[in-house]
Amino acid sequence: MLEAAPTIHQLLQSSLQLYEQVLAAEQMDVQWERRGLLFVYQDKHHFEAYHEVDQLLSQQFGVPAVAYAGEAVRELEPALKPGLAGGWHYPGDCHLRPDRLMQQLRQRLEQRGVTIVEQAPMTDFLRSGSQVVGVKTAACEIPGDCFVVATGAWTPLLSEALGVRVPIEAGKGYSITTTRPPIVPQIPLILEEHSVAITPFHDGYRIGSTMEFAGLDERLNPQRLELLRSGARHYLAEPYTDQVQEEWYGWRPMTWDGKPVVDRAPAAGNVWIAAGHNMLGLSMAPATGKLVAELIDGEVPHINPHPLSLRRLQWA
Ligand SMILES: Cc1cc2nc3c(=O)[nH]c(=O)nc-3n(C[C@H](O)[C@H](O)[C@H](O)COP(=O)(O)OP(=O)(O)OC[C@H]3O[C@@H](n4cnc5c(N)ncnc54)[C@H](O)[C@@H]3O)c2cc1C
Repeated sequence: MLEAAPTIHQLLQSSLQLYEQVLAAEQMDVQWERRGLLFVYQDKHHFEAYHEVDQLLSQQFGVPAVAYAGEAVRELEPALKPGLAGGWHYPGDCHLRPDRLMQQLRQRLEQRGVTIVEQAPMTDFLRSGSQVVGVKTAACEIPGDCFVVATGAWTPLLSEALGVRVPIEAGKGYSITTTRPPIVPQIPLILEEHSVAITPFHDGYRIGSTMEFAGLDERLNPQRLELLRSGARHYLAEPYTDQVQEEWYGWRPMTWDGKPVVDRAPAAGNVWIAAGHNMLGLSMAPATGKLVAELIDGEVPHINPHPLSLRRLQWA
């Protein structure tokens, strides 16, 4: 993971800046907030052991956390239960409401004349000589002069069309969105021993987690959902409400080295792959988009693309 960290750090830092620029320029209300991220511990040894990680992140990446031992963590975040060991706070972290982001991006794109074709999975490319000139879907054919395949955990299903097997595994995670509990956290939390994430929204509240490698399995497993609720109960005075807005699963596109692929596909010179963003696809999205655009336009890329090559994954 340390090998992947410098590139991921660059993608995250660049994306943070780009989110702030784009949200301001487009006047998008996606519940963007800079409240940081708080890692919370029940166990004193786990809390203290994080010191070593903090040292490494401070020294190598300039990202220090602030430690809050014992009851100090509850002074910082009063929604926590008493008796916890402590927490590490990254004050620079931001969060947003992803469904709002998608709605508003869609609206802005359509206003600029972009056509979004849904429920039409691409099955193959249309070729003319060595170039790809369109995509085939079950419903229609769509012509184009450049193609970016950003199909997340589904990318291996397109191996034949792409001319390469991209080793991405689906890492299934779940979330439950409820109304806001009466005592709601102000800071997004990672409940460390239970690997549960808590995200407060202006109009909702989300508990998310779990990592299941079961292929593209579409079932919503009630036991996994219960793990989210029980994890939250260990740390929070009011862990959730019974007014559920959504129970959800998604597939994280996992690569064995933790880095995404941003590279040209062997299929043709005008086909690009941007997939495999593991657990941080939302956080790395703007920089990935910018990098892809730079590569297609032949500009000097703002992030070195070599660590994101397809070739590095091809030995397995
Ligand atoms: C519970 C959970 C919590 C998460 N929390 C965070 C978080 O806090 N921060 C963060 O940054 N990330 C988080 N992630 C990870 C993030 O969701 C992924 O990294 C991200 O969605 C990957 O984006 P993507 O666009 O590459 O793929 P996806 O979002 O999976 O999108 C791929 C799209 O391609 C479409 N598609 C597939 N096949 C075809 C085809 N043949 N033709 C046309 N379209 C096709 C799919 O329908 C889908 O819409 C979380 C994930 C989960 C499951």
